[in-house]
Amino acid sequence: MSHLDHYANQTETFLAGIDQAIHNLQTQVPIHCKEGCGKCCENPNVESTVLEVIPLARHLVTTGQADAIYEAVTTATRPQCVLYAADPSVPGNGRCTQYHHRPMICRLFGFSVSKDKAGNGRLASCPLVLEASGVSPDSVVFDSTEGLPVYSESWMALTGIHPEWATQRYPINQAIRLAIEKVALADQLKTS
Ligand code: SF4
Repeated sequence: MSHLDHYANQTETFLAGIDQAIHNLQTQVPIHCKEGCGKCCENPNVESTVLEVIPLARHLVTTGQADAIYEAVTTATRPQCVLYAADPSVPGNGRCTQYHHRPMICRLFGFSVSKDKAGNGRLASCPLVLEASGVSPDSVVFDSTEGLPVYSESWMALTGIHPEWATQRYPINQAIRLAIEKVALADQLKTS
C-alpha cells in the first residue's frame, strides 16, 4: 500500500466517524437542511485542507473522472466549488455531485458543536438549518460532548493524520486540484 493510500484510508475512516458524530447530534437535536438547499456550496469562500479531499481525489482518479474535474478546477472563472450542480429552476438550490466523498468542512457546516467557557456543548449551525428545523440554538446545551462533532476537536484529529496536509486551508477548487495532483503522482510512482 502506498503512503497516499494509507492517508486516504485513514481520512476515509475519519470522515465516516464525522458522519457518525453528526448522526449522534441529530438523534439529540433533530436538525436537517432545508429541502434541496445548496446555499453553503454557493458561498465563494469555501476552504478545505488538502487531506480532506484526498479520498475524493482518489475516488475521481479510480473512477476516471479526475481529468475532467482537474480541467474544471484549473480553468474555473468563478470561486464556487466546481463539484456543485445548481438547480436551474430554484435559486439557491442544488447538490454536491460528489456528496459521499465531500470534505470534512462540508460535512460539519451546519452540523457541529462548539464548547463554551464552562465546557458545555453549544450548537454551531447554519441559520437556514435552524429555520428549517425550527430549533433555537440558545435552547440547546449539551452537558457532555462525547460522541458529538466538536468542530475544534475534529480539526485537531484531522491534523493527527497528516500535520502538513491538514493544516493549510485553500479555496475549495485549489484544494481539489492539489489533491488530484498528489493522487496522480502517487499512481505514477506505483506503476513506474
Ligand atoms: S465539495 Fe460538495 S459539499 Fe463541498 S462545497 Fe463542493 S459541492 Fe458543496
